[in-house]
Amino acid sequence: MTPEDAVPTTYGDITFRSRLEADWARTLDLNNITWEYEPETFTLPSGTTYLPDFRLPDLATWIEVKGPNVPRIEKTHEFARTRNDLVLIGYEPLRDEGPRRTRHGYANWAAAYGPSAYFTTCPSCTQRQWIPISRRLPCRACGFSMREWDVELRRAVDKRLRFAEATDGFESTDWSAEL
Ligand SMILES: [Zn+2]
Repeated sequence: MTPEDAVPTTYGDITFRSRLEADWARTLDLNNITWEYEPETFTLPSGTTYLPDFRLPDLATWIEVKGPNVPRIEKTHEFARTRNDLVLIGYEPLRDEGPRRTRHGYANWAAAYGPSAYFTTCPSCTQRQWIPISRRLPCRACGFSMREWDVELRRAVDKRLRFAEATDGFESTDWSAEL
């Protein structure tokens, strides 16, 4: 890790290893997604140990945060291949180009293994979450079954997820209005 990536950042009661990790925690909070930071160390089939960054306990989902200078994600791939959970890699946010360049940008992620994932809001329980793209899209919180072509789901899928900065404190922005 470069010094820039490794700046410990405190958000809430937790000091994260990097600013990017703290920003992801803040972004999850703003979307009412429960998370745990580094809750469990795993021994992978190859024998190496692996400590994922975030577990989303209500959603059977994990997020490994990777800054631009942290190219090694082999462990995350191996972890994803050996679990039924959804494993995501959380990158630095995408920034808008143009005259009204946004400060925070939009969350940028990829599935560590298997099909890529939408960010969506369940029409039944309203839990925001990522779901792997497939013909049937069961809500990971309540099991409500959506179909890819449902109007309801299309309305619920967010094309972009606003990314927040943990060090910003609490703003009065109505985030939902922009999603
Ligand atoms: Zn649901």
